[in-house]
Amino acid sequence: MNLKEHIAHQIFTTISEVAAEKGTSAFVIGGFVRDLILDRPSKDIDVVVLGSGLEMAEHVANKLGVKKVAYYKNFGTAAFIFDDLEIEFVGARKESYERNSRKPIVENGSLADDQNRRDFTINALAISLSKSSFGEVVDPFNGLEDLKKKIIRTPLDPDTTYSDDPLRMLRAIRFSSQLGFKIENESFDAIKRNAKRLEIISQERITDELNKIILSNTPSRGFKQLFDTQLLHEFFPEMIALHGVEVIDNKGHKDNFYHTLEVLDNISENTDDLWLRWAAIMHDIAKPNTKRFNKKVGWTFHGHEEIGARMTSKIFKRLKLPLDAKMKFVEKLVRLHLRPIALVNGSVTDTAVRRLLFEAGDDIDDLMTLCNADITSKNEMKVQKYRRNFENVRRKLNSVEEKDNIRNFQPPISGKEIMDIFQMEPCKQVGILKNEIKEAILEGKIRNDYNDAYTFMLEQAEQMGIVTKKRQQ
Ligand code: ATP
Repeated sequence: MNLKEHIAHQIFTTISEVAAEKGTSAFVIGGFVRDLILDRPSKDIDVVVLGSGLEMAEHVANKLGVKKVAYYKNFGTAAFIFDDLEIEFVGARKESYERNSRKPIVENGSLADDQNRRDFTINALAISLSKSSFGEVVDPFNGLEDLKKKIIRTPLDPDTTYSDDPLRMLRAIRFSSQLGFKIENESFDAIKRNAKRLEIISQERITDELNKIILSNTPSRGFKQLFDTQLLHEFFPEMIALHGVEVIDNKGHKDNFYHTLEVLDNISENTDDLWLRWAAIMHDIAKPNTKRFNKKVGWTFHGHEEIGARMTSKIFKRLKLPLDAKMKFVEKLVRLHLRPIALVNGSVTDTAVRRLLFEAGDDIDDLMTLCNADITSKNEMKVQKYRRNFENVRRKLNSVEEKDNIRNFQPPISGKEIMDIFQMEPCKQVGILKNEIKEAILEGKIRNDYNDAYTFMLEQAEQMGIVTKKRQQ
């Protein structure tokens, strides 16, 4: 195969010229080649040089007029940005591994050595930039065939490949999920055998791959493979606990692991937001802890939304996910995920709608997206019915919001104002008054407006004896 028409960009012709001048050879290799053939646009170009990657980068950058080159002497690599592309140069290398580290011992090598150290046949493809063979694909492991057949396979023995660098097991599943490829059976079995080796990989790297799986089009594909290979057991036991169905008195509950994956796939059709997808993963996470069986009503999971919300920060911390506003967002969605569904049943009061709008604030749309994704059932009629009812809730939310403007609700009278009006120092009573005003608005006793709130506040203060105090002063 020759891809010269696809690498007509100035960057490739310049590398080719410099290689000829220096009497060496250079190749584009790895993910860029794979993605080029798959027609997936990619901006990261890896170039392997038979010789020094640092020197090659310097010469090519000079010729292109690029001023800023980053040299990573420890790794023997150099990189620069040109025309919105990021090009990294490295000398061809040969690698060998020690048992307790995924960091290889590195020596200079040939192109073949460099291709041997790659994780998958589809990632070992190289394109020659030499003048005489410009654009020729160098494919020692039949990677082109695997691309066509949509197969993930290691170039060398899979047990050795995965044991040497266990991160590759997650990469295999990540590529399978991103590209919709099948991991060949031998490789899959090797992953099962080596799952425990994941212990030498840092949590940050594991989570990096996990997030890429979560962001793929059908994340359940990746998660099912993580489960079947037992990799998931190594770092996410709470999700494993969701798996399985218990039956008592002929009554079973749904398998919450597969339900969660269905919700995750559903939500992924509507959002690329990683944190909203994380909310889907976490929404039922406390079901195993709260599961009870009652002869009359069957299985219950009371309070799983609150306990799940409280589990979020602990799990995020362990997985080295951010503990900032993103975590708070997931926590909030887990806490509120039953509320819109609860509004589906029975007549919806304005008060309940106002309370939900107030608590969800600007996240109300994301909450609705989550709840919509949470409607799963084998019975399609039931799903359709729930969806229709759910649309009613959505309409109701919109009409109440239009009328009462609760979403970004700030009580019309601030604590400071209350203190000024009654000449009080900060104290418990200020909080009580403020809360009473908020409650009255949410309950629909008064309108969300300053004058109504002011009159109401005076009445309340009088009942609490606060006004009297002011008059005495
Ligand atoms: P993406 O950009 O989607 O992450 P990629 O294949 O470009 O995909 P990188 O992590 O940038 O992934 O790696 C570039 C190339 O380096 C890969 O295509 C592969 O050839 C090689 N590679 C990366 N990580 C490993 C690894 N752990 N073991 C062996 N080869 C690897």
